[in-house]
Amino acid sequence: MNLDALAGNARLKSQLSGASHLPHAILLGGPRGSGRHTLARLLAQAMVCDRPDIAPCGQCLNCRRVAEGIHPDVPPLSAFVSSKDRDKKDIVVDTIRNLRNDAFIRPNQAKRKVYLIDPAETMNVNAQNALLKVLEDGPEYASFLLIAENPMALLETIRSRCVCYELTPPGGQAERSDLPEDPKVKAAVERFAAAFREQSELALMEWSVGVQNDKLSREQMAQFYERIVALCADALAHRPGAYLWGNALSPQQFSALAQLCKNGWAAMERNVSPAHSAGWFAVSAWELM
Ligand SMILES: [Zn+2]
Repeated sequence: MNLDALAGNARLKSQLSGASHLPHAILLGGPRGSGRHTLARLLAQAMVCDRPDIAPCGQCLNCRRVAEGIHPDVPPLSAFVSSKDRDKKDIVVDTIRNLRNDAFIRPNQAKRKVYLIDPAETMNVNAQNALLKVLEDGPEYASFLLIAENPMALLETIRSRCVCYELTPPGGQAERSDLPEDPKVKAAVERFAAAFREQSELALMEWSVGVQNDKLSREQMAQFYERIVALCADALAHRPGAYLWGNALSPQQFSALAQLCKNGWAAMERNVSPAHSAGWFAVSAWELM
């Protein structure tokens, strides 16, 4: 596959270039500027291109129509939004139902139909559950490209049915796994990972006492949560940062842990004290194990 148009992301590009066929459900995650929309366009082109040997060729009618956003078999999500839902910020269940009905109509011009769902994390739970059905038993020619800044915000059931690719901004944080600069945050992260690795309730409680003794500020506690979310993402994507965790956790546990951190992080914005938050987090994390 020819992915020269995508900046950076060398490892991901070589991985995809060697792929003999593209999966029917793909989840592209990554922050702003990481190229997830560019990659989505290239993958959509590759799926419908007339020249599979050099796809996406960028020259055939299918490729050009995708680039212009006018390919009949690569419709924008907005085509499925009912007029009553135009003002809604979330992607609602009716939109996904309309998409599903469309998926059962055979492609018009290409061999495949490609549905882009962007930003996928704005699907509400009902919409995600409706999508799940199409991912499971949609027609063979239908492919789904989910784009999300934060893939962890999607239901685990959706993520597990997609092949996930995580993009990073060029020249940016290729190794997000490095530890934070702030010594208090760094110590809190290391101690927490160690307690989790040992699966020890006592170590988790000691960790929360340590946070109180170190008098972490609200900002430092927020950084702690942010860092644990990044480390969970590293573990789920098998990146080097995962070493901190050992091998004790399942993907479901990492997802649940990341969700806990997001709740903890949100609580920091609501003026919950760091000491109180650490106590809550230690108990909740223990319940995960
Ligand atoms: Zn082409």
